Amino acid sequence: MTSTRLRTDVERLALPEGRTPGTRGHANAKSYLVSRLTELGLDPYGEAFELSYAEHPSLSNLIGVAPGTNRAADPVVIGAHHDTVIGTPGADDNAAAMAIALEVAARLKEKPAERDVLIGLFDGEEPPYFHGAEMGSTHFYKHQRRGPVHAAVVLDLVGHAVPVPGLEDLMFITGMESDPGLERVVTGLEQMGDLKIVTTLNEYVGDMSDHHIFTSFFPAAAGSTTTNPPTLPTSSTTTRWLASPTPSRCWYAGLPTARLRVPGRVTTPRPRT
Ligand SMILES: [Zn+2]
Repeated sequence: MTSTRLRTDVERLALPEGRTPGTRGHANAKSYLVSRLTELGLDPYGEAFELSYAEHPSLSNLIGVAPGTNRAADPVVIGAHHDTVIGTPGADDNAAAMAIALEVAARLKEKPAERDVLIGLFDGEEPPYFHGAEMGSTHFYKHQRRGPVHAAVVLDLVGHAVPVPGLEDLMFITGMESDPGLERVVTGLEQMGDLKIVTTLNEYVGDMSDHHIFTSFFPAAAGSTTTNPPTLPTSSTTTRWLASPTPSRCWYAGLPTARLRVPGRVTTPRPRT
């Protein structure tokens, strides 16, 4: 059962000792994750699943490959950091995301994608490494990557209990400026129960996770910028979800700019490029 596997991974990873780099909990979690990558039958991306840093022995990325049917095509990365903030077991941040990445790997072993998919369990996403040279995803991109990457999907806080009434079942997807087809793909997905899907621009939210280094893919990085200002939500369904007397101060930076398309789907205006 998928749900059992997901729960088992989260429970094995989210222990009171946490997974702060250099601690026993960090080492134990990495051992567990390597055993899972092995058990899933993935190929190591390098000589082994664990790719250490030459200059920082307590940090390492864990990268497994689910081979695609066209090995010559550039791979897709599915990323989730494995470290935690000091003092937290990190179930939501970020064991749940790792469990999902591992489940995706299991599905891909049964039915391969066209492209290779790299399951990237990155180290050092949390402070003091956040956005620094030792941030795992950045270190991977600059020093461990063996070739171009076609796309990256980064999972973080995917089990998040959103502290806003009515928004508990929210899936929040940023980075719509990264490719004109992305929003179409997301909003074209089959309805997933009561899950509310919000697509938004990364510029409204910022580089809050491992997608930071991958935003160099964005068209904005090549010089285009957003020219249409965001509009506030107006439909009754939208305001039911996003009701706030001062929407510009909504807890979610991206939500005030969200615009409803159909019930269950919220989307933001796209930048003109
Ligand atoms: Zn996180």
